[in-house]
Amino acid sequence: MKRQIALAVMAFTAWSASAQAQEKKDYPQPEAMRPAMSEYWTPQPKVVTPGDIKTNTAPSDAIVLFEGKDLSAWMNPNGGDAEWVVKNGMMTVDKSKGDIVTRQKFGSFQLHLEWCVPRGITGESQARGNSGVFLQDMYEVQILDCFGNETYVNGMTGSIYKQTPPLVNAMRQPGEWNVYDIIYTAPIFKEDGTYLYRPYVTVIQNGIVLQNHTEIQGTTEYIGFPRTVKHGDGPIRLQSHGDPSQPISFRNIWIRPL
Ligand code: MG
Repeated sequence: MKRQIALAVMAFTAWSASAQAQEKKDYPQPEAMRPAMSEYWTPQPKVVTPGDIKTNTAPSDAIVLFEGKDLSAWMNPNGGDAEWVVKNGMMTVDKSKGDIVTRQKFGSFQLHLEWCVPRGITGESQARGNSGVFLQDMYEVQILDCFGNETYVNGMTGSIYKQTPPLVNAMRQPGEWNVYDIIYTAPIFKEDGTYLYRPYVTVIQNGIVLQNHTEIQGTTEYIGFPRTVKHGDGPIRLQSHGDPSQPISFRNIWIRPL
């Protein structure tokens, strides 16, 4: 027994001495943080000259899709020329000609467009200035005259059509221009055609947020629920809706791929 106690005391003494030796060891210490340690300088973001507010021009790196003169950036979805009416710096839907799409296809982007329904427009609910902007030709952000005009909320101006209502109604009255700024993140698909990451969209109308990084569930169907359809880059589509109201006009459309 005495021998066991003696061994234990020896072991403890040895451990204690070793612990003291470790405590005394002088390890290097991290340098104290200085402001410059968490700052980096390169690569510098490229310089983009903003558009001129007075003349409503596009930023210097934007792809201009319509600046009031011609429809050269657009086409009929079936391949022919876009045939909407261009006059007075704007393009106006020709309902007999159907939708138009951009010639170029896009992935993620920032899109700016302005739209206006005529003063004195008639009709109600979905039949008053109905149009829409389809992101990648798949997902409709609704365009509609919702100034004093009620409809189903997931079909209002700035809704992800039949999915997500806008946070607010930010309409200007008929005859005035409404401004859309849309920031869109394209989806990523798995090989089996289902979403790995769904698309996301932020929609701002007249400087007011309508959709705040909203997850898009799938295609925006008039009848039925969202579908998952695998796709790649796609054009921007502007809708020529068959409602009997006076046709809507667009101007100042530009896009910045992201
Ligand atoms: Mg529509």
